[in-house]
Amino acid sequence: MNPNTFMGQVMKCFDLTIDNKQVEDSTDKLWYVGDPCYVVENKDWDLFCQKTWADDARANAENNGHMDSIIEWEGERLEIWSNGGDGVWGFNFEGKSIPLNGFTAEFGVDAGIFCVMPVEICKPLDIEELQRLGIIFMGKKPKLYVEDNIVYINDVADNSREECWNCDEMIMEHDRMWCDTGNCCGCHSCFECECEEE
Ligand SMILES: [Zn+2]
Ligand SMILES: [Zn+2]
Repeated sequence: MNPNTFMGQVMKCFDLTIDNKQVEDSTDKLWYVGDPCYVVENKDWDLFCQKTWADDARANAENNGHMDSIIEWEGERLEIWSNGGDGVWGFNFEGKSIPLNGFTAEFGVDAGIFCVMPVEICKPLDIEELQRLGIIFMGKKPKLYVEDNIVYINDVADNSREECWNCDEMIMEHDRMWCDTGNCCGCHSCFECECEEE
């Protein structure tokens, strides 16, 4: 088809869409999940931050409390997330799609933000180094989001939360409470020791 005709242009756009889709799903594509500050070249970091602070980048993301901004970087659309500052978030991916890091993997955050980034636009680092800095998936683009201060990757919640044994509420590990005898367990909202009543 003549690419200069209207239909030619439409077909060209259509091809591009298909190409992009194929790239997203291609089986050997690598994805980095973690803090972008480790994988953006130092000389570009100021520019990266400026982009995340831009009003329109923030406006793009305003429908979700934890999504900071959506920016374009090296021709890729990046969703920038945060979860109350710096920290380390660990995951157990058993039974789900397993990253190159293994069943259990974690990423640390230094710049207060994290995102999914194609490895091809990360600064050149060997794959072991990348796995030390973040979580590396091969194939399908991992789904990253934050809800109620819990970070999810491919619908796996981070390890900082667990279900209360007693009342099913999602609690932090250190919120779990035991009585002196160790017989009763619960969380701040349900804990009750029943030992003394017996
Ligand atoms: Zn409870
Ligand atoms: Zn008790």
